[in-house]
Amino acid sequence: MARPFNFSAGPAAMPVEVLQQAADEMLDWHGSGMGVMEMSHRGKEFSAIIEAAETDLRELLAVPPEFRILFMQGGGLAENAIVPLNLSRAGKVDFVVSGSWSEKSMKEAARYAQPLLAASNSDSNHTTLPAPASWTLSADARYVHICSNETIHGVEFHQLPDLKALGSRAPLVIDFSSHVASRTVDWSRVGLAFGGAQKNLGPAGLTLVVVREDLLGHALPACPSAFDYKTVAANGSMYNTPPTFGIYMAGLTFQWLKRQTEGGLSGVAAMEQRNITKASLLYDFIDSSSLYFNKVARDCRSRMNVPFFLRDESLNDAFLSGARAAGLLQLKGHKSVGGMRASIYNAMPLEGVQALVNHMRDFEKTRA
Ligand SMILES: *Cc1c(COP(=O)(O)O)cnc(C)c1O
Repeated sequence: MARPFNFSAGPAAMPVEVLQQAADEMLDWHGSGMGVMEMSHRGKEFSAIIEAAETDLRELLAVPPEFRILFMQGGGLAENAIVPLNLSRAGKVDFVVSGSWSEKSMKEAARYAQPLLAASNSDSNHTTLPAPASWTLSADARYVHICSNETIHGVEFHQLPDLKALGSRAPLVIDFSSHVASRTVDWSRVGLAFGGAQKNLGPAGLTLVVVREDLLGHALPACPSAFDYKTVAANGSMYNTPPTFGIYMAGLTFQWLKRQTEGGLSGVAAMEQRNITKASLLYDFIDSSSLYFNKVARDCRSRMNVPFFLRDESLNDAFLSGARAAGLLQLKGHKSVGGMRASIYNAMPLEGVQALVNHMRDFEKTRA
């Protein structure tokens, strides 16, 4: 029987081929007589796994050579502390608050640095994005932080800001937890990108950091050694035991991503095309319906996280139980926003979005 379609915001659905391969290799990885969870992280087997994962990710995201790829732990929230510990030198940091995640990042940074609000979309209840030309950037900020995809509010930067053109010399830090590998990245505009793996890359427990080399080596004395990017980089992400199984699963996901093709494209570019098609299908249906609506301004709607509402909220429970019966799981919206949310990450096939739209259409008809 086919598996249901899982719209969880995270930890989220993984490609079924990846899960199947992991199941096949669970007891004996490549004839080694060991499962990946049971291997020394310093042995030749795991070394091959982590090296391939890094090489594949660098190729998939076209990460330039002057950036280091770090496999860490702690998740996105720990990075809210680890980034200022490493980059702020206890100085000023400019924050663009565009939703819950960037708001959390700014709050946490106050423990280590001097966060300043460069721009906010709270006027619109996080349904727009402030134009970069309107941001108030500090001349001496150590970095500028944005959340490039706000998972809860469904707001996405479709273009990263060009800080140089805005007169800032600070590096841009992006929290790309919930859209990493869903689209290409313009690294010429980025100093550091971080993300938890559990939305688009693999199981929870692995945190990806991609950091420009010149930003290493400025950690505050209080920074834990295991979280000092320079130490992590110098030890090939093996200063302490890395999340080995998470790295293995992410590595299988990278191989899966490399195999994807769409309209003559492959890898992340193919994925991006597919994600555009999936998101348009859902948003176009929502916009054409008289029962459902989405509050986010069209030019900043997330391709990954689609919050939507029923005009008659008393139908919410019936909508969700009907969805479950139709094999459509975890559509309930985040408690701070309400309504519904469909997260349609890389692992969600077009058929899953089509099945959701079909259910929404059928449900609307029966209530008309
Ligand atoms: C999920 C998420 C996080 C939180 O990550 P944790 O692994 O729970 O710490 C941070 N930022 C964004 C944008 C997220 O979507």
